[in-house]
This record gives sequence, structure tokens and C-alpha cells, in this order.
Amino acid sequence: MSFVKQLRNWFQGRRRDLPWRVTDARGLRDPYRTWVAEIMLQQTRVEAVVPYFENFMQRFPAVEDLAGASEEEVLKAWAGLGYYRRARFLHAAAQKVVEDCAGQFPSDAIGLRELPGVGAYTSAAVASLAFGERVPVVDGNVKRVVSRWAALELASDAPALHRAAEEQGALWMLELPAGDLTAAGELNEAMMELGATVCLPRNTICDACPVADSCQAKALGRVAELPLAKRAKKWVDLEMVFLVHRVGKRVLLEQQAGGWSPGLFEPPSQIIQQGTSQEAALEQLSSSSNPESHGIVRHTITHHRIRAHVFATKALAQSKHPNLRCPDDVPLTGLARKVLTRVLG
Ligand code: SF4
Repeated sequence: MSFVKQLRNWFQGRRRDLPWRVTDARGLRDPYRTWVAEIMLQQTRVEAVVPYFENFMQRFPAVEDLAGASEEEVLKAWAGLGYYRRARFLHAAAQKVVEDCAGQFPSDAIGLRELPGVGAYTSAAVASLAFGERVPVVDGNVKRVVSRWAALELASDAPALHRAAEEQGALWMLELPAGDLTAAGELNEAMMELGATVCLPRNTICDACPVADSCQAKALGRVAELPLAKRAKKWVDLEMVFLVHRVGKRVLLEQQAGGWSPGLFEPPSQIIQQGTSQEAALEQLSSSSNPESHGIVRHTITHHRIRAHVFATKALAQSKHPNLRCPDDVPLTGLARKVLTRVLG
């Protein structure tokens, strides 16, 4: 049996019911739900995405609802999923679909790539699942499967591996039965599922693999070596001070204009620059002589490792300060949530 048949048979027997896998009479998915799910799934595990997806669909059941919402509402519905740029792109893309395309999603990968935040991966996923287009998806899972199955001597982040996975995927698409609208989406999902659940980076479960009999890395005993390791990430370590001003249930929260999460809210903070002290950074945040220390929280974002020294004070001069807000009412950064939990419990 061919690779494609083995993989599709295997996937058909284990496909899970997920809220974005609802299909119409032709077996195709709704493009709006598929697109939102794919964006959420980019950096987040399936189990973690399900409740966020269901909540998001309740708040914004159609692309018109998302387009008509404020950015703050969208960020709030996204809060907890991280990588907030995705939510901003989602919002901007919904507005483009409504304004430029009368609420209809482009029906092929090339057209979908015109939408903000939609790259090669998402456009291929939506085009194949919602419109039946025969275009392969390539993500980290797919690249790992291809690199092992064909025993390619390439690093996991090498552009050459990406190209090889696209080319191999396009060849497999040619083997799908003519006229079957669901085949391309199914093959793409099967590849991703194999990479996510069987052809794992470590503890690979080759004994449960449907394509083990044609896998080159398995035959050569090189599964653990492939794909080759990528260059180590260069971390930047940052020391910060956060000051939580409380007035009753409200906290002073500032909306971030730039940085890692523009548009989201955090308590006032300062980076402790080299050659300066924590006390000096704290002084810039507060005129209060005796803020209370709440220890240190750690957080990583992109290539930054942050150690945040948390302080709190109730001595805010103006209890009517415009930035005093209830933390539940605004979208917070991941770091802000950790800082506030440390102070407020
Ligand atoms: S046999 Fe092992 S290494 Fe090869 S594709 Fe299957 S799970 Fe991956």
C-alpha cells in the first residue's frame, strides 16, 4: 500500500471530534472556523485551544461579528493564548474579508495569503480543509516526518528542509483520487497528526507508525538523529521591577504602546539597566518610600528571559487616576498576570 493510502487509513481510524472539525454535506469545513482554529493552533496545543475556540465562537460566531468588535474585545477573548500579534492579525483579516470580499473568504491558498497574518501554512490548511485545494501544509511536525521518512541530512530549521517537505507534499497530493474534495485536507491533517502524536521529537513511537515499512530513518537506525539539531537560541536576560498600585479592587494598569504585546495592559515597570540598581528603578516608579516586596516572578517571551521583582503599594495619591482598572476588565500580558497573581493571589 502507498504512503498516502496508509496514512489516510490510519487517520480515518483515529480522527478526534473537535469543535472546528464540523463539515458540510460535501465534507468541507467552514472557512471562518477553520481559519480561527488554525491561527489558535499555531503556538498552542489542541487540548488548550478547545475552550478558547468555543468561547471565541460564542462571542464572534461569524466573521462579521469579529470584524465589528473592538480590538480590546478581541484581545480580551484571546487573553491566555499568548502571542497577541495573532489576535490583532485575526481582527484585521476579518475586517478585510468583510470590507473587501463581502464576507466571503478567498477560496484558494494564493488569495488567502492576501489576508493579514495568513502565511503559507495557514493558507494551505484553510484552502485544503475548507475548499479542497490540493496544496500541502508544512509545519514543524510535517518537516520532521518528511526528514525522517526520506532520511534527509538537514537541520530542522533549514530552508532546504522546508522546500523538500513542500515538494514531497505536492507529490503525495498527486496520488489522491480525482474528484475527492476532502482528500487534500485529510492528508494534511493526517501528516500533522502523525508528527504530533507518533513521529515525536523524542520518544518516537515507530511501532505505532502507519508508514514505518517505508521509513528510511527507521531502516537506517537514525530516527533519533533526524532532523539534525538547529543552532542554539541566544537568550537575552532581563531584570525588571514591577510596581502594583492598588486602590480597593482596582490596580494601576498601563496599556502597552510597543514592546512584546502592544495593546495589552501591565502594571508600571522599569528595566534595571546594567550599572543601575533595583532601588533606582523602583524610585522611578514610585514616590512611596516603603513599597512592599512580593518576591520574584520569572517569564520568557520570544528570546527574552525575564526576572521580575514585584513590589506593591496602596499609597496611590489619586484614587481617581484614569489608569486604575479592574484586572478582569482588560486584556493583560502573560507577565502581568503572573505579577498580579503574586500580589493579589
Ligand atoms: S517510522 Fe518512526 S521515524 Fe519513521 S515516520 Fe514513522 S514514526 Fe517517524
